[in-house]
Amino acid sequence: MPVLGRDVTVPLVTGGEVTYAALDYAASAPALQRVWDDVAAYAPYYGSVHRGAGYLSQLSTDLFENSRATVAEFLDCRPGDQVVFTRSTTDSLNLLAAAIPAGCEVFVFETEHHASLLPWRDARVTYLDAPRTPARAVETLERALADRDPYGPALVCVTGASNVTGELWPVKELAAAAHAHGARIVLDAAQLAPHHPVSVADLDVDWVAFSGHKLYAPFGSGVLAGRADWLQDSQPYLAGGGASRKVARRADGGVDVEWHTTAARHEAGSPNVIGVYAIASACKALTEAGFDALVARERHLIDTVRAGLAEVPEVRVLSLFGDEAPRVGVISFVVEGWNSSHFAAALSAEYGIGVRDGLFCAHPLVRTLLGSDPRDPGECGAPEAAPGERSLNAIRVSFGAGT
Ligand code: PLP
Repeated sequence: MPVLGRDVTVPLVTGGEVTYAALDYAASAPALQRVWDDVAAYAPYYGSVHRGAGYLSQLSTDLFENSRATVAEFLDCRPGDQVVFTRSTTDSLNLLAAAIPAGCEVFVFETEHHASLLPWRDARVTYLDAPRTPARAVETLERALADRDPYGPALVCVTGASNVTGELWPVKELAAAAHAHGARIVLDAAQLAPHHPVSVADLDVDWVAFSGHKLYAPFGSGVLAGRADWLQDSQPYLAGGGASRKVARRADGGVDVEWHTTAARHEAGSPNVIGVYAIASACKALTEAGFDALVARERHLIDTVRAGLAEVPEVRVLSLFGDEAPRVGVISFVVEGWNSSHFAAALSAEYGIGVRDGLFCAHPLVRTLLGSDPRDPGECGAPEAAPGERSLNAIRVSFGAGT
């Protein structure tokens, strides 16, 4: 699928220029040309959403609300599910964390991206050790849930595809385990949704979160979709116009507020209508292209990159579930004798290849994969150990539609 930036040239330290090779899709994917064209066609017509009587305001409101329906369809939501527009996956999971009922227990694997690991600040959190197989992940969760208070609310948060190894997690089985123990589950689909179809109904997850900028749309918009009840019963994520249905002064001098019970409850303020429209455009483009073709092309790329890396004896590819595990186009590795940051910098400066180095906002997971203690605070993105010593961070290549 055509994406922006395919013809961008960058300077090399050795002199001259080369066409940039974007291999950091897991951080932010380039926007699809189709998304950019849709946004450009709409841009002259945009107006305020839910707030204007003028034609352009009405048009924008329609596009905004239709985008909700497009995203619900893309995610195969159940009737009654809500689609809340946020700024990103991080924002979506923080919104849910603010909406969980009092006394809610949260269960999360230590292998999660920090966006899934950290938002549950007001909850009792059980951090589950890294499982070495998908089956082990289900067993670990079942064991932890068996010990919980069966009458209290509980939430499991799990990623669909790892941003470090690209490996797919057994989401459907984890959802079944959660529900069997009366818990709910939220799927972090930041890395899954751009590469695989996500069906909320089939996976039977209660909520799903993803980011526009990883789904071939520009920065600044994201989605939290799923069950309405906890979202309706909680305080608005942001208080302000748009979230409130009725506001009146009280006789005692205070203010009474009646909040919306729809997604608008958590969308106070003027929304990012362009960003939301861009997400809907990306959802349509991916659906029309068909995930079968995208998955097949990506499978070929994964096999090609892994075969190339396997020819270099100094390279070790990082994996939690093993070489045969199904995965998306995200591959992390270390090169013996190389500082990962220097290696990534050299790929950029000498070859025009853009990758990422570091601990990928998943410090406990990367430390485990590098053979360190995940409880060791270490240094974030610390420089490499001396030659011959263990790596302290890694290099990641990632790709997708348009690669
Ligand atoms: N979850 C996963 C698995 C991710 O890879 C990322 C970003 O890298 C996030 C969550 C956070 O996404 P964002 O930075 O768009 O909020």
